[in-house]
Amino acid sequence: MSKTLLKNVHAIVTCDCDDTVYENCDVLIDSPRILQIGKGLEDDQAQVIDCTGKVIYPGLIGTHHHFFQTFVRNRMVIDYPSMTVMEWLDRVYPIFANVDEEIMYYSSLTAMADLVKHGCTTAFDHQYNHTKGHGVYMIDQQVRGAEQIGVRYVGGRSANTLPMEKGSPIPPEILETTEGFLEDCERLINKYHDREPYAMTQIVVAPCQPINSYPETFSEAAKLARKHGVRMHTHLGEGETAGMLERYGMRTLDWCEEQGFIGEDVWFAHCWELTVEEFEKLGKYNSGVSHCPSPAILGGFPIIDMKAIQETGTVISLGCDGSSTNDSSSLLDTLRTTYLMQAWHSKERGGSVSPYEILKMATVNGAKTLGRPELGWLGEGQAADLFAINIQKLEYVGATHDLLNFLPKVGVTGEVDFTMVNGAVIFKDGKLTRVIEEQLQEEATKAYAKISVLLDQI
Ligand SMILES: [Zn+2]
Repeated sequence: MSKTLLKNVHAIVTCDCDDTVYENCDVLIDSPRILQIGKGLEDDQAQVIDCTGKVIYPGLIGTHHHFFQTFVRNRMVIDYPSMTVMEWLDRVYPIFANVDEEIMYYSSLTAMADLVKHGCTTAFDHQYNHTKGHGVYMIDQQVRGAEQIGVRYVGGRSANTLPMEKGSPIPPEILETTEGFLEDCERLINKYHDREPYAMTQIVVAPCQPINSYPETFSEAAKLARKHGVRMHTHLGEGETAGMLERYGMRTLDWCEEQGFIGEDVWFAHCWELTVEEFEKLGKYNSGVSHCPSPAILGGFPIIDMKAIQETGTVISLGCDGSSTNDSSSLLDTLRTTYLMQAWHSKERGGSVSPYEILKMATVNGAKTLGRPELGWLGEGQAADLFAINIQKLEYVGATHDLLNFLPKVGVTGEVDFTMVNGAVIFKDGKLTRVIEEQLQEEATKAYAKISVLLDQI
């Protein structure tokens, strides 16, 4: 345990249920929690960080991502907006099949570095790429990377089980069996899932897509997750609805309900194709939705009306999604994009979710989604997960009188001043503090070369 005193903080946006903003105060932290917020705090044993001119926000929480895709970025030959999803999958899956443990480790470090530098303190990854040639120890690589960087990590063990001859586009190299998938979920839960408050590593049972797995993959996954008391996650309403109607005669959410894959312990990525009635059903079940704005725009999907969804009681959190469809892993960028997209509905309905509500989706709602009450807002006893923005800069003059709405509305998307997880500073002065970044960058570049050479051949 170690103590830190954040001194002379310009303001703390807590995102608590009263929307409290503390001005000109100090924060005393005894790792992993916040001990006290107040004026004139002193502690002889604490390491002091001068926060003059800095605004503190709760750390951002991502609820949908595919880390390994950071090595498949900025390639116009697989540019998502200019092709159908099927064309895109046909091109990228043979590449994904070559992701080995080393590539998984370094691509995940790359994604996590981007996340942390932009204020993320809890990173969920939906990891479905376990190839026949390279084995199942992929989430293990992500756990190792997250521990090194110091970011809080939630690993979603994912899989697809339906073979091509049954109508899926999943190549045999990536296909798994329900049995193998469940076995590895159990291994990961037993090895890594920490149930204690302030836990740094947790596991989620997260089959990839309803249309690309057998029904029993989902029903058995739900049983296993509930046996161990862990959460569940999958993609939903991302273009598969017509196919599900054709194959099963029912919409995807009804199908998930039939498999028992719904409830307050489940959240779904995207949901672009859901009806208002379906969001009401999610609300009744207290299920969550992870909204990822960038792939929705790039995929040409409808812009979901977040205000209408919020009114159904559905918990909306935010995610970057994988870098094949969003070339950035910045949640600050996601806040801004979400805000801009909602303007379309705002004009129609005379107001939509506020920029501050969008910030709360990436903090409070992210914590609710992951079942982590000690995260997502700042107050005494809460985890010291936070980031700082230095507002004493020329470019912010005239923009900082309203700090609740500030980040998404003004578009604060650069690197933050510092990021702290469980009371430990893991990013400061432009560098990750726990690793030698130059060395990792060099090693990661070598690992990337193995994928790059394949992408060059497309
Ligand atoms: Zn996804």
